[in-house]
Amino acid sequence: RTLLFVAGTRPEVIKLAPLIMALEGHPQFSCVVCASAQHRDLLDAAFAGFGIVPDIDLDIMRAHQTPLGVVAGVLAALEPVLAHHRPVALIVQGDTATAFAAAQAGAYARVPVVHVEAGLRSGDDNEPFPEEFHRRAIAQFAALHFAPTPSARVALLAEGIAADRIHVSGNTGIDALHATAAALARAPAVTALLDSEFAMLGPARRLLLLTIHRRENHGARLASVIAAVRLLAQSDALDIVVPVHPHPAVSAAVQCGLGGVAGVHLVPPLDYPAFIHLLQRAALVLTDSGGVQEEAPAFGVPVLVLRETTERPEGIAAGVARLVGTDTTAIVAGVRALLDAAAAHQRMARASLPYGDGHAAERIVAVLTREYGGKVLVKSA
Ligand code: UDP
Repeated sequence: RTLLFVAGTRPEVIKLAPLIMALEGHPQFSCVVCASAQHRDLLDAAFAGFGIVPDIDLDIMRAHQTPLGVVAGVLAALEPVLAHHRPVALIVQGDTATAFAAAQAGAYARVPVVHVEAGLRSGDDNEPFPEEFHRRAIAQFAALHFAPTPSARVALLAEGIAADRIHVSGNTGIDALHATAAALARAPAVTALLDSEFAMLGPARRLLLLTIHRRENHGARLASVIAAVRLLAQSDALDIVVPVHPHPAVSAAVQCGLGGVAGVHLVPPLDYPAFIHLLQRAALVLTDSGGVQEEAPAFGVPVLVLRETTERPEGIAAGVARLVGTDTTAIVAGVRALLDAAAAHQRMARASLPYGDGHAAERIVAVLTREYGGKVLVKSA
């Protein structure tokens, strides 16, 4: 019985890898992993980091691609894959154009669609666009919904999804985080090497980690964030590390606005373990990333979210994340206030795990086995 996984971007791989690995050697299932390559370089690096070699590569990335172009490419390329493999279920994660298109393709092929990280809602129909629209649409195609948190389950129920189709599993991203943090803790030689790569960070200076990539932040909002970073770099004893997202709208503006600024270190996208290591060292995170909002609380690192809304309210309720938006003055004030607070309290509450306990994949495998595993034939003596 084949389970077909489709992933197109870095976070999809990070969040599907724990599930693919938990299914290794499963008596009833064999996994077929399909890369859409929506983001070629980040996707390949993420797969390699988990030692996963995709069985199929749709290779749909094009220069200047649009979300609609990605959707059209995945829909066309996936039809023969589904016809050939006839999977018992097609598994997608999150809210990308790849996940949205793959879910549609599965629905047309009458293959049950399984949605991992279901039920996230920003509460705003139009933002983030097109992710919010993708999530809502995937919920309509999906046969099984793995909600990371109870509030995600409530959102699905409110949209009329049957209660017995929803399972609260925790977020598989937290499984990946725990496994990676544990592996780093067991490998002092690796962390020493990583630290040597970041030797430019002063031990007495506090580390601010910045990631920004979302479509709605391209343009004026990104310029406003860059202005805040320039101010913070001038006036505070901070090291600001920015793994620069390769999207041209991001990388061009960041290189131009922050390149050569003292205290600001622009680096290429980091391997997942290197990023997690740096995250553990950070005093504060500024981000518009979904995954990073989930990861930072696990280390008690406070997060300022560079957005007006979030589909991840749990971190805010737990007091580890705050929506700051993209206004320059608000960001500078928010960073200073948090650094003062963090200095007073050392770190925020460490035991903040609003997104999962690291066992999401096990729960999902149990449900998949029940739903799609078929009967196990036990030979009588
Ligand atoms: N990440 C990484 N290297 C980096 C920056 C982020 O491995 O240089 C990881 C991060 O730990 C998280 C994921 O990438 O798990 C987040 O991806 P991204 O922000 O691109 O997407 P989103 O989560 O917003 O969908």
